[in-house]
Amino acid sequence: MRSPLSSRPSEIAGAPASARPLRQFVLKVHELCNLACDHCYVYEHADQSWRRKPPIMSAAVARRTAERIAEHAVRHRLAGVGVVLHGGEPLLLGTARLRELLTILRGAIPVPVDLRMQTNAVRLTEATAEMLETFGVRTGVSLDGDRSANDRHRRYRNGASSHERTLRGLAILRSHPEIYAGILCTIDVRNDPIAVYEALLAEAPPRIDLLLPHATWDNPPLPGHAEWLIRLHRRWLADGRPVPIRLFDGLRDIAAGGHSGTEAVGIDRGEVAVVETDGSWEQPDSMKTAFDGAAATGLTVVTASADDLLSTPVMRHRQSGLAALSATCRACPVVTQCGGGLYAHRFRTGSGFDNPSVYCADLKGLITAMNDEVTAMREALPDRVFDDLATGAGGASSIAYLTSAQESITRALLVAAADRLSGTESDPWSVLSALDKHDPGAVRRILTHPFVRVWAVKFLSGTAGPHRLADLAAAAVIAGGADVDVPVTARDGRVHLPTLGTVTGGVTTVNGARPPALDPARRIGPGLLLEDADPYRDCHEWPATGRLTPEQVRAWDEAVTAAWRVVERDAPDHAAGLAAGLTTITPLTPDPVTLRSATARQASGALGIAFTPDPEALAVLLVHEYQHTKLGAVLDLIDLVDPDSQALLRVGWRSDPRPVESALQGTYAHLAVAEIWRQRAERGVPGAAGHYARYRDWTVDAIGALTASGSLTAAGRRFTDGLAATAAKWPV
Ligand code: SF4
Repeated sequence: MRSPLSSRPSEIAGAPASARPLRQFVLKVHELCNLACDHCYVYEHADQSWRRKPPIMSAAVARRTAERIAEHAVRHRLAGVGVVLHGGEPLLLGTARLRELLTILRGAIPVPVDLRMQTNAVRLTEATAEMLETFGVRTGVSLDGDRSANDRHRRYRNGASSHERTLRGLAILRSHPEIYAGILCTIDVRNDPIAVYEALLAEAPPRIDLLLPHATWDNPPLPGHAEWLIRLHRRWLADGRPVPIRLFDGLRDIAAGGHSGTEAVGIDRGEVAVVETDGSWEQPDSMKTAFDGAAATGLTVVTASADDLLSTPVMRHRQSGLAALSATCRACPVVTQCGGGLYAHRFRTGSGFDNPSVYCADLKGLITAMNDEVTAMREALPDRVFDDLATGAGGASSIAYLTSAQESITRALLVAAADRLSGTESDPWSVLSALDKHDPGAVRRILTHPFVRVWAVKFLSGTAGPHRLADLAAAAVIAGGADVDVPVTARDGRVHLPTLGTVTGGVTTVNGARPPALDPARRIGPGLLLEDADPYRDCHEWPATGRLTPEQVRAWDEAVTAAWRVVERDAPDHAAGLAAGLTTITPLTPDPVTLRSATARQASGALGIAFTPDPEALAVLLVHEYQHTKLGAVLDLIDLVDPDSQALLRVGWRSDPRPVESALQGTYAHLAVAEIWRQRAERGVPGAAGHYARYRDWTVDAIGALTASGSLTAAGRRFTDGLAATAAKWPV
């Protein structure tokens, strides 16, 4: 069949005069596969060209391909290129051939190469993983969810399941985190999206790709992909986006003024080329779903450069942005985000690719729902609040916004937990819901306790038991004085009631009266909870203490009371925010060498601190750590850093290079510490000027590194601009 594009010269004439360079090269290094997945577009869809290709890419073809990539990178002065080893199944090449291929690629391309592999992982061994690590090959694994979801399609030729062996491969990759790139999941709407999400999350992937199964108007997909994706998206948001999901992140990035980073959505595309085992230049593999020969370009790496490929009508058309889209798409309100979906999904016999995506309704539904979520977030964090926090400080009303957003996240997680528990035991969630109508303040006091979210996340990931929900209901009933019986289950002879204390003595039911055997939680300083009993408090990188003696509590009270006065004196711009947001201190075990303090992203409002009687030092710890809490709450709402960024930045306070988000966290914290030392230096405190100079220089340099990293989102750039404006006022 002729390419439908060859009959549409008028649209091709609209292509840009100068093409964008190619940035990713997919190398089909092994044509065959050891599995026979019935949804595979290479073997099971319209294109059957694999039958006419050599089974493996020879060293000669690999060498020529590497030369072509090198010449393209040099000609276009690219800072780096991506190369993906693909198949069939690339691991069928065997270790020796794979090593030969990787040696060629690493040796011939003179710019940094982001080398990756996409595999089903069933043949991945420890030895192969070590070899891949030696060559820095970041490896993605195809997995469609839990066993029943994966077995629906991903089977051996004899029908046997591949699930167990794929999980074994993933376990090997987890022990090589440097090369674990993530999981690619092909959606099947007959699988439950939450079960799929949880199964993928259980493999601790650094990223998830969700792939719409390839389809065209000639072979349309099952209905319901929008609903499937929206359910998963809601749960992902409620979890605080624990892992980047490329489709969602891509759509969010476009909405924020960036690029999608995927061929699946967005306007700026056409930067990917495929090289087949015989050296043919081809368009992305997904085209194989359209018709036999749809991906072909007629060029090979032997006779044609990557620039020759870019000048073909098909590639020029792919890069022509809006001009490449159908009239329906060009008039669509979400076209800049959707971009007509994946190119291959637009195909229909007769009109070729001049159509909206066959997933049009699904894409529109998903994007609209996601945009509504983004709008809600913007409302949750208006410009006034964002810019206040971007000064490096943040007043009480800004912190109140963050607290309320954190409460929404916790409540969404609790709804998911209650959903999971429904029908399994008495229903504490309905007790909480009923009480919420009559005494929302009492419920709020309990649900905003920092370790409620910690439990919910653990429970939903299968690492905590279910009984905490009843503890929450019991605590809320006591806080509200409601005459309701709540059955509770003791663990190790105790029931811990969040914010209230621990009940011992075989209690099985709690009602509005305070239980006589309650060992109460203690409060210190300006009313902070000294949390030494909550079973979920030990969530920091340094262990929590056990129950403190009354003398120890008294010492904490004196130290925090004195430190609070120091904060008001030395960090006046931070004091109101700290008072509005900090609720809890978790005592950490002391370190004989250094002061210890920590925060946990899931425990907003709590700081972990090892005791120090020195109020000056304690004040610095309080302000420093609370900066991490604040920024974590902002990051729960808005991406400040590109989730795909692999960049590492040098910062003054660490000897090792840091991921961009860690560098931003450190910058935010050190900015506040610099402010404290500036105040002390101005008061003439001995040694303070030196401390101030050090923290100031670290902060200013880190802001510069963040700004130059190219890894910040539009919101992230605005945020660091705010920090830079604060630092610019500092005396040198
Ligand atoms: S939603 Fe439909 S009409 Fe709009 S850009 Fe996407 S495919 Fe085209």
